[in-house]
Amino acid sequence: MPLVNVKEMMEKAREGHYAVGAFNINNLEWTKAILSTAEELKAPVILGVSEGANKYMTGYKVVADMVKAMIETLNITVPVALHLDHGTFEGAQKALAAGYSSVMFDGSHYGIEENVEKTKEIVALAKKLGATVEAEVGSIGGEEDGVTGRGEVADPLQCKMIADLGIDMLAAGIGNIHGQYPANWQGLDFETLAKIKETCGHMPLVLHGGTGIPEDMIKKAISLGVCKINVNTECQLSFAAATRAYIEAGKDKEKKGFDPRKLLAPGTEAIKQTVKEKMEMFGCIGKAN
Ligand SMILES: [Zn+2]
Repeated sequence: MPLVNVKEMMEKAREGHYAVGAFNINNLEWTKAILSTAEELKAPVILGVSEGANKYMTGYKVVADMVKAMIETLNITVPVALHLDHGTFEGAQKALAAGYSSVMFDGSHYGIEENVEKTKEIVALAKKLGATVEAEVGSIGGEEDGVTGRGEVADPLQCKMIADLGIDMLAAGIGNIHGQYPANWQGLDFETLAKIKETCGHMPLVLHGGTGIPEDMIKKAISLGVCKINVNTECQLSFAAATRAYIEAGKDKEKKGFDPRKLLAPGTEAIKQTVKEKMEMFGCIGKAN
């Protein structure tokens, strides 16, 4: 199946009360692990790519071409969207030109007027190309020297202004943060999420920072309109732990254990396991048809 945008995935998720996992990729192993797990579990999937990961893989074209070719060589039949994660105005344009089927334009650091104007332009460009757009209101917190209590919480009225621009999904800060959650994290702000849902109607909502959010909060967020959940850090942690275990067990020194295909295999398997656990939690297994 060729790349698809997220429109139908989001509609089905909203109606079926589950969320589609958006897993960030960093290289070939990540891509292979996520695509093959989605196929095995018959789950629709979104491959997220940050601008940094695009740069690491030497450019948008390389990523788009690799993903498209791998869908073909692995005989992937489930819907797959290739999505730019936290794109800049320029990055979103480049990704669309290279064949990404979906982009996030993150204008949350601009004032609301500028966010509106720039989001509008990206929506117009994406529509021409048959791609979908995620926009963001209220920035999502990150690792901040262990003192992060909550990420910024979005203003529901600003959410409505952005939701009305023809976007396909909206990321709104509701106390979620990127990276690992601190022990003193106060949890998701469901009151704000409920207000955003009420104000924005059917707009599919996106939950960033999916790593480490407890299952009950994930389920509640889905019941309040979250249709896409981003997972990045958790795959990185499981990859690193499995790779560390391989090396600490001295396996890279046995026979040809130093062969990168062997060295990276335990980490790749670990990513598969993490993706599977997340898909179970999000309820998207078997929803590809
Ligand atoms: Zn994010």
